[in-house]
Amino acid sequence: MSSTAALNPGATLSVAAMPGVGSRTAAALARLGIGSIEDLLWHVPHRHERLLAEQSITALDTSLTDGELVTVRGEVAAVRSVRAGGGRARVEATISDGTTTMRLVWFNSPWIARKLHPGAWGIVQGKCTHFRGYLQIANPQWTPMRPDEPRADLGGARLRPIYPTTEDIPQDRFEKLIGPLLPQVESMLSDWLPEADRLQQGLPSLADAMRMVHSPAAPEDVPLGRRRLAFDELYLLQVALAMRRWQVRHAGGSCAIAVTEAVDDAIRRRLPFSLTPDQSTAIAEITQDLHSTVPMNRLLQGDVGSGKTAVAVYALLAAVAAGHQGALVAPTELLAEQHARSLRAMLTGAPMEWALLTGSTPTAERRAILAGLSGGSIPLVVGTHALLTESIDFKSLALAVIDEQHRFGVSQRAALRAKGAGGAPHTLVMTATPIPRTLAMAFFGDLDVSTIRHLPPGRQPVATRVVGFDRSDDVYRYVRTRIDKGEQCYVVVPAVEESDAGLSDVASTVERLRATHFQGLSVGAVHGRLSASDRDAAMEAFRAGRTQVLVATVVIEVGVDVPNASLMVIEHAERFGLAQLHQLRGRVGRGTAASLCVFIGDPTTDDARHRLKVIAESNDGFRIAEADLAIRGPGDFFGERQSGLPPFRVADLMQDGLLLEHARAAASRRVAQSPQLDLPGERLLRVAALQRYGSALGLADVG
Ligand code: ADP
Ligand code: MG
Repeated sequence: MSSTAALNPGATLSVAAMPGVGSRTAAALARLGIGSIEDLLWHVPHRHERLLAEQSITALDTSLTDGELVTVRGEVAAVRSVRAGGGRARVEATISDGTTTMRLVWFNSPWIARKLHPGAWGIVQGKCTHFRGYLQIANPQWTPMRPDEPRADLGGARLRPIYPTTEDIPQDRFEKLIGPLLPQVESMLSDWLPEADRLQQGLPSLADAMRMVHSPAAPEDVPLGRRRLAFDELYLLQVALAMRRWQVRHAGGSCAIAVTEAVDDAIRRRLPFSLTPDQSTAIAEITQDLHSTVPMNRLLQGDVGSGKTAVAVYALLAAVAAGHQGALVAPTELLAEQHARSLRAMLTGAPMEWALLTGSTPTAERRAILAGLSGGSIPLVVGTHALLTESIDFKSLALAVIDEQHRFGVSQRAALRAKGAGGAPHTLVMTATPIPRTLAMAFFGDLDVSTIRHLPPGRQPVATRVVGFDRSDDVYRYVRTRIDKGEQCYVVVPAVEESDAGLSDVASTVERLRATHFQGLSVGAVHGRLSASDRDAAMEAFRAGRTQVLVATVVIEVGVDVPNASLMVIEHAERFGLAQLHQLRGRVGRGTAASLCVFIGDPTTDDARHRLKVIAESNDGFRIAEADLAIRGPGDFFGERQSGLPPFRVADLMQDGLLLEHARAAASRRVAQSPQLDLPGERLLRVAALQRYGSALGLADVG
């Protein structure tokens, strides 16, 4: 990487080496994710404050509108520290500029008194009001400055950058660090956006954009500079995704799978129900992809319980029928076991081998399975992510289905692709967290999408209630009456073990419920720290109806399918994310009984209140996903961990949807025209894309 790094010197220059940056500042900067000069430049202001030309205090007195931002220069006439009621410290000062005086007051900043002593001169900036016959500024900025010293920013209005900061780094520190870098940005950051694309978008150069956001000459500079920086990030990811799409397509070599009418018929007869129109449409889209040697790269999205598994099984059986192998990959053992169970039910009597491979498969069995996969005697395998990370050879892997994509990073998909027979296998990724359009475009720009919109027939909507902890006795009393009539109930709690946070945990909840409302019932428990066999036993007992209640952590969040369980109580619901709550609720309402889900919680933050309100009002996964995105922001919604990609520093998918479309269009045009980015003027772009996304996306450097 050293030759490529040299293209962008700012990335290798550490802030710790900058003049005036000691180890303490360097550590504080590191906490903000700033290590290099490049990072520092990309730490852009989140807003700007207008700085006005200096005025005399007398002039202000006659012209001021209360609340207006002003700048005056004056000499401290008097200072005092006041300790008001409630222990609030206040510093008051009077300054004079020779015309008349004004008052300054600072709250909760006792240290300011040390900077102010009678006779000290400085510039004062802040919002000015008339207060008890005086002009007063509360919490002003104070910058020491001699009476005759010229101000660098004179010459009318200036916009002062306000940076995201921490307690350890004062606001103006960023100005002082970044300011001197601005004239030399060209020598520190390489501008990889091809000139033609830049002009077409009407954007300034990277260096100009940096100057526009950090030190705007005019207010309209700020959005333009910001636009350029956001475009850079969006465009670079879109270029990387387009390159990957191209590379995947041209890797070719996937097995072409023809689905004859006889095969179609045989598979449909294996399924325990007839497929819904949405399922059939998805299957048609998939079989069309499978028919080609160009690898399928498709996302199947559908709300919880919409029946994605049947679609996956159809495709896998089609691959097997064509004489190849298929793999179904799940994020958890619980879910892999669940899929194995559905397969077992469908494949009884079929002359076909298949295997379940997870972290708890005994060694001897594992060895036999691996041999069967590499020899080809096992055509179908269900397993956890270990299937991808381990050195497993397939004789002829034609199709890989990855369930619950939201737990599965882009980079893992790339790892999977390397496992294909000869070329890449066809891949189908499934998600029950519908991905809002902008996010799908940003992070899955390389995927085709099939959507299941409608649930299978006969479902009853889940009745949802949100109540406070004071109502939990009522809730459990009512739930008990329904259990007594034959229904089963999940109780979800946030903690596995007792903790200081006072959250409900599995063990004590089991004990509590057995001793009170659920006396005489059989209560099971399942959580992530159980061994696979204990967890299996607990799930099986619940599925078979031997336990009526299952106390669980979020391990049951995805995939678990027990149609007779029609009741769910979630304690400390305020602790869970919105998508998580929706997934959890999706565990009930799978049978024909009218289901009930009760969220018990006492939210203390606005976000938590909002989450519970949304979940109470809507059962629509798409709407909930949009709301979730709005509450959490895309960083969290599709954070680094989930997407496997470095986060954006400036781009904001909530606000930059349109810019993203421009970036996507420009990126696809460029990659269509020059898939290897080897035209003149594209070298820096290729290096940047490979550097930032190459390993996460499994991009080959073919240039
Ligand atoms: P998800 O999309 O959440 O993975 P599943 O595939 O687990 O959903 O399906 C949820 C439930 O719906 C399962 O019990 C499954 O057997 C049932 N199901 C799926 N498709 C149909 C259908 N076409 N008709 C009736 N029931 C169906
Ligand atoms: Mg599923």
